[in-house]
Amino acid sequence: MGFFRNVKHYFEKAANHLNYDRGLLNQIETPNAIFKVNFPVKTRNGIKVVSGWRVHHSQHLLPTKGGIRIAPKVDEDEVMALASLMTYKNAVVDVPFGGAKGAIKLNKSEFTEEELERVIRRYTVELIKKNAIGPAIDVPAPDYGSSPKEMAWIADTYISYHHTDIAALASVTGKPVENGGIRGRKEATGKGLMFALREALDYEEDLKKLGLSRGISGKRVVVQGFGNVGYHAAKFLQEEGAIIIAIIEIDGTIYNPNGIDVEKAKQIQINEGSITSYPDAKVLPREEGLFLETDVLLPAAKENQITGENADKIKAKIILEGANGPTTPEADEILNQRGVLIIPDIYANAGGVVVSYFEWLKNLYHIRLGRLTKRVEEISQIRMLHGILKLIDRSMDEEELKNFVFSADEKEIVFSGLEDTMINAYRHLRETALKYGTDLRTAAFIIAIDKIARYYINMGIFP
Ligand code: NAD
Repeated sequence: MGFFRNVKHYFEKAANHLNYDRGLLNQIETPNAIFKVNFPVKTRNGIKVVSGWRVHHSQHLLPTKGGIRIAPKVDEDEVMALASLMTYKNAVVDVPFGGAKGAIKLNKSEFTEEELERVIRRYTVELIKKNAIGPAIDVPAPDYGSSPKEMAWIADTYISYHHTDIAALASVTGKPVENGGIRGRKEATGKGLMFALREALDYEEDLKKLGLSRGISGKRVVVQGFGNVGYHAAKFLQEEGAIIIAIIEIDGTIYNPNGIDVEKAKQIQINEGSITSYPDAKVLPREEGLFLETDVLLPAAKENQITGENADKIKAKIILEGANGPTTPEADEILNQRGVLIIPDIYANAGGVVVSYFEWLKNLYHIRLGRLTKRVEEISQIRMLHGILKLIDRSMDEEELKNFVFSADEKEIVFSGLEDTMINAYRHLRETALKYGTDLRTAAFIIAIDKIARYYINMGIFP
């Protein structure tokens, strides 16, 4: 089954629980616009023709939103699937965007930084020519293989073509903080995964079925993929007391039942090019990592990793989907029957898009979050404290008073908004699963379909 068919399978499974017209369901699941571009790029080895895509899956809300993938193996089916997942994800966590995704097909190791910059800028121009990018049209972000650096090139290219548009910086998110980005975006998907797991580990009746105790502390975690999502998720989970027993990367798995120091592993990956040089762990073949005895398996690499062929060997009690589409429908069926709790991608890894939403707002407002109100909040807290001290007939000097005053900076505001979103969305997911007697993934799709369907009906587009 192709990736888009996998998503369709989950969509149909959820739609069976709802009573919407077939035409309306078709409208929701069909990609609205597909852009394919091929363009020449001058490299030190001659001219190369590079292929790229951008799929605006659902334009019911604008702009559409989703990352850009850079990978040697990527095709239209994959981008359509990823774009459709963005539509449902945005609905589940209630951000006011349609869904989109892009891809550029190339092997980054074959390009110099300068050549890569040429590719990204030209890809952006191709999208501008098609009117397929802009703060009110479609707003890309980082995904597998791309980072803030690429987002800065996209922003700069877009702005140079739209220099009179005061909102031009909001044409892409995940930018470096110095270039209109927001504090916390880089870590957001990983932080969101931590909030998702923390929430899932908070319901006694669910945990009893899994044979797990409450809370993240002491839980064993295996992470697959040690890039942006996997590294940050592992780091935040470790900070909450989880034991990262294994990290699976492209060239092998490192395993230590007593725990791996996430920061140390990252430094080794950066400095030596591979985590397998990590000193205090056993190196296992890549595939074996997935089958280790663990409480939580966190796939954060690519789609189709947990399949009908290997699902029986998975021993994890919880699968926390950091990657998009890591579990195929066949594996999903097997694992659900075995009572494994799957926290689905369209909820679990939504932290990135939630914080991208905050970045987009920041760019439209042209102000750092908290800047306008910081001082006023401090003054009002001090006044309140003075009032309370007067009531209880106590006094404090100004230095002591300052210890009680809290004023949030941008990162704290961003993470508190993310935390609130992830907690509320999990509760909604769980209630929906209980109401319809489904797993969490089906519940997430039910929520998304229902929300988008009601949007179309209320707009009078469908009866
Ligand atoms: P990334 O490029 O930063 O890192 C991916 C890592 O996975 C790399 O280190 C790579 O070597 C490794 N990898 C690739 N294939 C592997 C395999 N078979 N086994 C083990 N490791 C493998 O990418 P990312 O941004 O962390 O994205 C990872 C996944 O998370 C993707 O599915 C992406 O769509 C999804 N995602 C990313 C974001 C985001 O904000 N970046 C948000 C939501 C979802």
